[in-house]
Amino acid sequence: MHDRRDSRSRKKPENWVKIAKERIDILFSLAEREAGKHPERSKRYIQLARRIGMRYNVRLGPSLKRRFCPSCFAYLVPGKTSRVRTVRDRQAVVVKCLSCGKEKSYPYIREKKAARTARAAKKKS
Ligand SMILES: [Zn+2]
Repeated sequence: MHDRRDSRSRKKPENWVKIAKERIDILFSLAEREAGKHPERSKRYIQLARRIGMRYNVRLGPSLKRRFCPSCFAYLVPGKTSRVRTVRDRQAVVVKCLSCGKEKSYPYIREKKAARTARAAKKKS
């Protein structure tokens, strides 16, 4: 069975990870397909994908994470299940989930990185 003490080594069975990633991909595309017509089913796919990710220690990258609502797991399709706007002075993209109304803002990635490197450069000098 699954004994945690036995899987001490950091090396993960690569096959599992690969399969888990594939499943997550499939679930996301299913969620996308069902988002309009069957939102509840779509949410279920997202939840499943998350669970697989947790079980196999596979991170859902930012590109996947942004595709669903973190509070109700609705698949976010801009203009359909979500509304996206940009807030210039906050340098962020605000995504509103039309299913539960929750808003989430994401900083522009490029700006964030630039700020970080600028900060690091400052520290050095
Ligand atoms: Zn939501």
